[in-house]
Amino acid sequence: AKASGKARHEVFVAGMRVQVMTRLQLETDLRRAIERQEFRLHYQPLISLQTGKIAGFEALVRWQHPDRGLVPPNDFIPVAEETELIIPMGKWITHEACRQLKIWQEQFPQEQPLLVSVNLSGKQFSQLNLVEQIEQTLQETGLSGHSLKLEITESIAMTDVESTIALLQRLKALHLQLSIDDFGTGYSSLSYLHRFPTNTIKVDRSFVSRMGDESEDSQIVQTIILLGHNLSMDIVAEGVETAEQLASLRTLKCEYGQGFFFSKPLVVEAATALLKSDPQW
Ligand code: C2E
Ligand code: CA
Ligand code: CA
Ligand code: CA
Repeated sequence: AKASGKARHEVFVAGMRVQVMTRLQLETDLRRAIERQEFRLHYQPLISLQTGKIAGFEALVRWQHPDRGLVPPNDFIPVAEETELIIPMGKWITHEACRQLKIWQEQFPQEQPLLVSVNLSGKQFSQLNLVEQIEQTLQETGLSGHSLKLEITESIAMTDVESTIALLQRLKALHLQLSIDDFGTGYSSLSYLHRFPTNTIKVDRSFVSRMGDESEDSQIVQTIILLGHNLSMDIVAEGVETAEQLASLRTLKCEYGQGFFFSKPLVVEAATALLKSDPQW
């Protein structure tokens, strides 16, 4: 028993060492990645459920790592947050997304101009010059504030409600669209929701993916949609994967859908080709 205990201990220590080294390596690599511009944005279409047409895109970051290939955001955003490297990264992400959207708007003019949605992390949200930085990005790229949507998760929004409201109001003054992401997963923000100057609620994928005719999750999605509509907000359902989910969401008068049923996140060239083909769902 003693021997196996010791063996377990050694395995544990060895495992810890590996973990620490990876974390440090990751931080070093991330710093270099910013200098070498190794980040890429993929774009997932956002579909208007009323028209069935592409209304815009959500920009999702990936890391084109020299050895590891394409690294998904969940594998590096947490360390980028801890090290505050998310601040320069986030600045690049917003700038790149706005620059690309401006190109698409000129290439594909439509009555309701295409919009781009960008995710903000908690650190970015408490960054002092966030509003000025976004204002500058809009100026540099020539994109209208109306065409940029910022997504903040429910848990970030709820960390400090009063300063969230103050900051959202300053962003709103730039005519930005604001969205509460992953709604339903944080602890209840129901009593504050009416005070957030947000245009959109994004229903978390976990509810949408378990939607079935009589399921409790369908009830939850329906309730969130009714709540949002009462507060004059639009609803985006994320993680739409089946025709059945799409049909239910249309019945519930959900405004927008996003998910693999329509398209995975795409590289720029593929997103451009999709826009060219002018699909209708
Ligand atoms: P999120 O904001 O909730 O983004 C949606 C995630 O769900 C994306 O994963 C997307 O690829 C995935 N997804 C979309 N449709 C479906 C579907 O139908 N089924 C399934 N199973 N998944 C779907 P991704 O790109 O790996 O991003 C994960 C998370 O990383 C994002 O969750 C967001 O929190 C964060 N993230 C991504 N890009 C950025 C960024 O530029 N900045 C910051 N701060 N966070 C980001
Ligand atoms: Ca999001
Ligand atoms: Ca989400
Ligand atoms: Ca999510």
